[in-house]
Amino acid sequence: AAKGKVGIIGSGLIGRGWAMLFAASGYEVCLFDILPEQVSGALDNIKMCLQDLQKAGLLRGSLTADEQFGLISGCSDFNAACQGALHVQECVPENLELKKKIFSQLDAVADDNMVLSSSTSCILPSKIFSGLKHVKQCIVAHPVNPPYYVPLVELIPHPETEQSIMDRTRALMKEIGQSPVSLKKEVDGFALNRIQYAIIAESWRLIQDGVMSPEDVDTVMSAGLGRRYAFMGPLEVMHLNAEGMKSYVERYGETMQRVLSTFGPIPDFSGPALETVDAAMTNQTPSTPEALTERRRWRDARLTGLARLQSDM
Ligand code: NAD
Repeated sequence: AAKGKVGIIGSGLIGRGWAMLFAASGYEVCLFDILPEQVSGALDNIKMCLQDLQKAGLLRGSLTADEQFGLISGCSDFNAACQGALHVQECVPENLELKKKIFSQLDAVADDNMVLSSSTSCILPSKIFSGLKHVKQCIVAHPVNPPYYVPLVELIPHPETEQSIMDRTRALMKEIGQSPVSLKKEVDGFALNRIQYAIIAESWRLIQDGVMSPEDVDTVMSAGLGRRYAFMGPLEVMHLNAEGMKSYVERYGETMQRVLSTFGPIPDFSGPALETVDAAMTNQTPSTPEALTERRRWRDARLTGLARLQSDM
């Protein structure tokens, strides 16, 4: 018997990813979309993905691909998709007005036990959930693409979200094999994008200031920092690179401050620097749908390999 029901609103890239994750650990999943053809497309695509994963020995959970697929159903009615669900995950396009509309619909069908969760990448919970009857049960659960291989989920509360809802969602994310992190309060960009944008800004400055080529900047991450960061965070890197954290700060604290003071203003991401970066990236992978799809396949194969390696450790 299924563990319980999860409703997914929006059957695009992220909705499909969530559906597979929940079904892999035995939840009954109802997929809804405003476009019925998106739901049938999602079901076909999920079926194929599950079979491929099974063949490659990468299927998550203990159920077979068929059993997992059997837990996922398409739904042409919003209320039917959500009613009785213990968790509803919204995955519609990144548009505040649309998300507000979806959550007011959800507010009307929710009982006092449902978690109302948004996949938004960068809209603050206070913007989406304020004023809802069930605001205490609302949360942002921001996944990383593709969620099947990149397990991080950022959990962000509305100022009125109950701690028990944060705890329950964190436990659910762990149960389905993801790696949840909790923000204690909302902040623009959440955590992942704040850190990512810091890296992008400095990468851009190194190019803009004529220090390095775009290709070499990417190599600094892919062959250098990224190798460590696939397994540990920057703080643990510090701890291990000296005789512990305090020794690292004693040795390198002043240097970090000196270098950081030379970072300069926020780049405007336009002009000659943009032309330079675009030329380098297009030379490597033309900005055509075919070339991008092929390179994404390459990326996903690398991420699969990494997931395999990490699950062996
Ligand atoms: P997508 O465009 O692939 O899918 C969105 C789906 O929502 C479509 O199938 C669309 O038909 C459907 N939809 C539109 N209006 C609807 C409505 N009123 N009711 C029900 N369904 C509706 O988008 P996506 O990439 O899956 O992104 C969904 C959300 O996840 C966004 O908030 C995005 O910011 C977030 N997110 C995306 C990524 C990513 O890398 N793609 C990563 C993390 C979070």
